[in-house]
Amino acid sequence: MQDRDVTIIGAGIAGIMAANTLRKKGMKDIHVIEKSKSVGGRLATRQIEQGKADHGAQFFTVRTSTLQEYANDWVEKGWVKHWFGDPYPRYTSVDGMNHLVKRLSENIQVTLQAKVMDIQEVSGGFQVTLDNDETFKTGAVLITAPVPQAVELLQNHTLTLNAERMKELSNIQFQSSLVGMFTLSESTSLPSNGHVDEGLPEGVERIVDHQKKGISNIPVISVYMEGEWSDYHFPHQDNLTLRAIKKSVADYFDPLHVQEEQLKKWRYAQASSMINHSYVNVHQVLPLYVAGDAFLRPDDQAGRTRFESAFLSGIDAGNQIATMMKGI
Ligand SMILES: Cc1cc2nc3c(=O)[nH]c(=O)nc-3n(C[C@H](O)[C@H](O)[C@H](O)COP(=O)(O)OP(=O)(O)OC[C@H]3O[C@@H](n4cnc5c(N)ncnc54)[C@H](O)[C@@H]3O)c2cc1C
Repeated sequence: MQDRDVTIIGAGIAGIMAANTLRKKGMKDIHVIEKSKSVGGRLATRQIEQGKADHGAQFFTVRTSTLQEYANDWVEKGWVKHWFGDPYPRYTSVDGMNHLVKRLSENIQVTLQAKVMDIQEVSGGFQVTLDNDETFKTGAVLITAPVPQAVELLQNHTLTLNAERMKELSNIQFQSSLVGMFTLSESTSLPSNGHVDEGLPEGVERIVDHQKKGISNIPVISVYMEGEWSDYHFPHQDNLTLRAIKKSVADYFDPLHVQEEQLKKWRYAQASSMINHSYVNVHQVLPLYVAGDAFLRPDDQAGRTRFESAFLSGIDAGNQIATMMKGI
């Protein structure tokens, strides 16, 4: 792989928005490295039999004019729709949340199924090593992996890191999330928009019927379990966890109608504490940035990790790196 000006680790919404922002600022030599088979990260959509299910974020809300402008444009292009919620709309992608990130990454160079294993400091920047032992040099690095994974990647004694910032990052904890996906032989009794997040049994956070949501031809249901429930059940066998989930939501669909079931285990779903800035440079001198959903603008209105915080963090980090690289 040839050397790059800017390397972005992670093709979630933060990484892809950072890459788009750098391009807008006239920087061309940007390369995104993603360990999974697809872009999107926690904006994840899965094909199950003839159906489809979102099993990461279901929707996004908008509290800033920056995201509102993009959302209006995406609605106009037919990429997203107003799903429900008045006066605070929940927007969702018309064909699964993952497809929105795919659309946004059309002009971005992304290497998939490549995990960054190591970042070393070298003259003029960094040397990045992938899990296939490939190495390349880069002038700047932006890590957008969930913070605990970013911290793990930075446990490297050749890097001259800012100890205070690293300490701040090391204190960020994430909760896990378990999501059961079920294809059913019959439709559910969920409301016509297919979404319920109130009055649910203990441990259940949200239930979504994707046929009613409008992204699936057949009834595919995602059941989201709460953070504490998920942390407790995370080590258990998948079949036992799925059985427990079905038992919890038996009032919403009959377990006998389940035809196919799958479990998604998110080790890092959402942060329980946040950084009060939309990105940080963890290096004492060189551009080695960390961004993502746990990095909130100081005036953030919601105070939690979500699509919008990741989206804005990526844009802000991209702008900062463009400014810094042009000054070098
Ligand atoms: C179950 C669940 C439900 C949610 N529901 C909602 C919701 O309804 N509304 C909402 O607004 N938000 C929701 N969220 C939160 C939202 O999905 C996230 O805040 C947002 O998608 C995070 O984006 P990101 O780019 O910061 O991180 P991610 O999407 O996690 O992207 C980071 C990427 O980095 C990659 N990566 C990590 N380490 C490496 C490495 N070493 N080398 C290469 N690649 C690497 C990962 O594979 C990943 O693709 C939900 C999240 C979960 C898990």
